[in-house]
Amino acid sequence: MPITTRRIRHDLKFRRTTVVSNTRITPQMARIVVKSPELEGFQCPGFDDHIRLAFPEPGQALDKPTPGERGLEWPNGRPETRQFTPRFFDPEAQELTLDFVLHEVGVAGPWAMDARPGDELGVGGPRGSFLVEGQADWELLMGDGTALPAIARRLEALPAGAKARAVIEVADAAEEQQIESAADVEMVWLHADKGETLQGYLDTLSLPEGEGFVFFAAEADAVSKAREKLDALGHPGSHLKASNYWRKGEADAHDH
Ligand SMILES: Cc1cc2nc3c(=O)[nH]c(=O)nc-3n(C[C@H](O)[C@H](O)[C@H](O)COP(=O)(O)OP(=O)(O)OC[C@H]3O[C@@H](n4cnc5c(N)ncnc54)[C@H](O)[C@@H]3O)c2cc1C
Repeated sequence: MPITTRRIRHDLKFRRTTVVSNTRITPQMARIVVKSPELEGFQCPGFDDHIRLAFPEPGQALDKPTPGERGLEWPNGRPETRQFTPRFFDPEAQELTLDFVLHEVGVAGPWAMDARPGDELGVGGPRGSFLVEGQADWELLMGDGTALPAIARRLEALPAGAKARAVIEVADAAEEQQIESAADVEMVWLHADKGETLQGYLDTLSLPEGEGFVFFAAEADAVSKAREKLDALGHPGSHLKASNYWRKGEADAHDH
């Protein structure tokens, strides 16, 4: 069955949540679970849905913004916010799980390194979801650690009989994760410490025959190269979802 993609909108909501746990699932990835009765009705049906996390100033409570014509309006100025992917949502427990790549500069990375049970975190959105329907002959899911939550969600959702290759650049072998899938999946882990990069992989990329869907999310330079390469290979834009998830040297840089 050919695939179709569509976007759906959600009402913009902001929720105040509280950290319940912070676990290092690999040396550079923190898994943080937040909980709140305000998560009632939270939905994230798309594998690459994104929410805007709001980080309170240390020692200060998080304000509650109201939805306005241009997004959320904050009574006392907007706090720092960053975009993340809901990794799992448990509606019964009203718990949302997020995976953070740990790095030392910025707001989200350092916050995740130290987050403790009881800390507050604001969750805005998702404002919409990108849905892929039907089953392509193959899927190619590529990205770095920031895209691992989205790629893992896609692999977990693929049914038996689907074929996928996931190509993920991580710092080193210790960053590899076990991802469950009913599909026939080829996992390729690129280890940056050995000079293996998404950009290098793109140089030799060729695509299988048939209808394919490609997802690519990573640092902006790698994403530009992916767009060029996939275009040169004749891959149709209708079957590509490529997003800048961050940009070297820039805070809160993305194309959403
Ligand atoms: C749709 C979407 C979904 C995303 N989902 C996730 C997710 O689930 N998990 C996740 O970890 N990230 C995710 N990201 C990426 C995340 O939003 C960015 O990495 C963000 O910049 C992190 O904020 P920060 O406050 O830590 O750093 P910033 O204050 O934004 O940046 C500070 C400095 O750190 C650098 N930097 C930013 N991110 C990284 C990084 N990963 N590694 C090394 N240096 C970095 C910047 O270039 C800058 O120089 C997503 C981004 C988008 C657009």
